Amino acid sequence: KKNIRTLSSLAKRQDRTMFRVVLLSCLVAFAYAQCGCSPSMISDENGLPKADPETGLYEGDMRLTSNNFLELLGLRNTVRNLWTTKIVPYTVVSGNPSAVDSALASLQSRLSNCIRFKRRSGESDYIEVFSGSGCWSYVGRTGGKQQMSLQSNGCYSVGTIQHEFIHALGLFHEQSRSDRDSFVTVHWGNINNKQCHNFYKQGSLPSGFPAYDYVSVMHYGTTAFTCNGSKTLTTRSGGNVGGSSLTNLDVAKIRALYRC
Ligand SMILES: [Zn+2]
Repeated sequence: KKNIRTLSSLAKRQDRTMFRVVLLSCLVAFAYAQCGCSPSMISDENGLPKADPETGLYEGDMRLTSNNFLELLGLRNTVRNLWTTKIVPYTVVSGNPSAVDSALASLQSRLSNCIRFKRRSGESDYIEVFSGSGCWSYVGRTGGKQQMSLQSNGCYSVGTIQHEFIHALGLFHEQSRSDRDSFVTVHWGNINNKQCHNFYKQGSLPSGFPAYDYVSVMHYGTTAFTCNGSKTLTTRSGGNVGGSSLTNLDVAKIRALYRC
């Protein structure tokens, strides 16, 4: 019994040491991060969003086609490349196929079968899910095979799987809506200056689009891309934002996009 107690106190001590190491690394990371964003860190001279120079991703997890740029600028009223048949074939070549199946079955059911997700059987346009570096997707249907990365370690919550598939259906992030400044405050001074491009704001919204949703599964969290641990994104009155699961407004937006 004494041995067990010794072991458990040893484990606790190791936990505490581990906690200190993690805390220290966070503090060091904050100490070296530069805070604050200027307009040129968010978009280029043509007003187009900037990608992360290392990953080529926009707003953290999107790969964009040339059509998507026009949509982000608001020159197109809505995403042009939808899944016109409302059927989305997919394969999972690495990762956890049954977790993807079940997250999509649940999404499809919440959408009242407006969209049908199915394992691919020879369709030419489809999504290939693989376990790459991080979680990312294209926005809308690109035509042919389009990849989506769901890293086995980190991208397999139901909310994250659905988030990436909602990008593939054609939705961007909630906090990049053109009307976001009426609903949220971006705390520019707390943003890591290498991550400013994540706070790009779109040019226009499709008319009649459902309401802004602070807890959308497509909304980033309150300390996203912080340089110092302080809030980067809040409601206008300072409240927390960000969602981790599908909301009724998310459902309404997808159904509006697909005219269900
Ligand atoms: Zn995203």
